[in-house]
Amino acid sequence: MSIEEAITPQRNERLTAERAYELYWADLLDHDATFTCVGTGCSAPLICACLDKPEQNLRIRPYFRSRRLEDHAESCEVAHGRGEPTAGKQPDVFEAERPADHFRATTAAAQADPAAVPARRVATGAGTGLKPRPSHYYRLSSLVQKFLEHRRDKDLAEATVDIGGETVTYEALFRNIYRQKATDLLGTRAVWWGTASLRATKEGGYYLRFSRPFRHDDGELRPTITLTAKDIDAYPVRKLLRARLDKLIAEADGYCVVFVWAKPWMPKDAEKPFVRFYVNNLDHIDVRGPEILEELKNTSRVGT
Ligand SMILES: [Zn+2]
Repeated sequence: MSIEEAITPQRNERLTAERAYELYWADLLDHDATFTCVGTGCSAPLICACLDKPEQNLRIRPYFRSRRLEDHAESCEVAHGRGEPTAGKQPDVFEAERPADHFRATTAAAQADPAAVPARRVATGAGTGLKPRPSHYYRLSSLVQKFLEHRRDKDLAEATVDIGGETVTYEALFRNIYRQKATDLLGTRAVWWGTASLRATKEGGYYLRFSRPFRHDDGELRPTITLTAKDIDAYPVRKLLRARLDKLIAEADGYCVVFVWAKPWMPKDAEKPFVRFYVNNLDHIDVRGPEILEELKNTSRVGT
């Protein structure tokens, strides 16, 4: 059984598996961190699967699970679903910026996070453990994971996400750059995605170049993205980012699939036109292995 939320006594914080994953990669949760169930009157110990795996796809993703079903209390609705409404119909929420101190070592960070709920309320058994509330995400990778799942479940056109002050469907938000006309889209902030090649730069950063192009006049333009060492070093989840990118370079020769939440940018009056995506916040880029192309292919909707 896959469980989405748990309490970590180490931080006295109720958190999602995605958040536990980020904290682990920010060196704020131990490899052997313990978690407990959020169910009413339940204190079943949980473990977080895939916590230390840099890559993510449909099969590999962080989630909580208990070792034994018997560990859960009789009253636990997580283990013994009482048919309570889930957050299914609410839009997911993508926050463009993290709360200040989101990665503080202490529990104070939890208070600033609208997605976090003080663990105590549940531990006292006063409230129910499964109040429906929207999922809040900060890393684009979490949204990409949802995109893959909705695509598999064939409900991209119905599932919505609240992003940049608008509520949009996953279908409208995610756009493949392939052969779209660049100049028509310069004002369009979306999650642009496509296959790309990745390499490390001499300066300790990374350079990405899409292998599929935008259209421009009679030609084609392959957008590029530069991630500087300076930006990466200032990024709290840098260990995960570097582990993912280095793994792709080592194992796939830099062949990858990039997702970036940005607007395409072109210089005005350049002699030779080009397109770039500027990533000011490294939470807004996700780079994955080519195996997800297989997942995308296998789950592509009828008629596309
Ligand atoms: Zn439980």
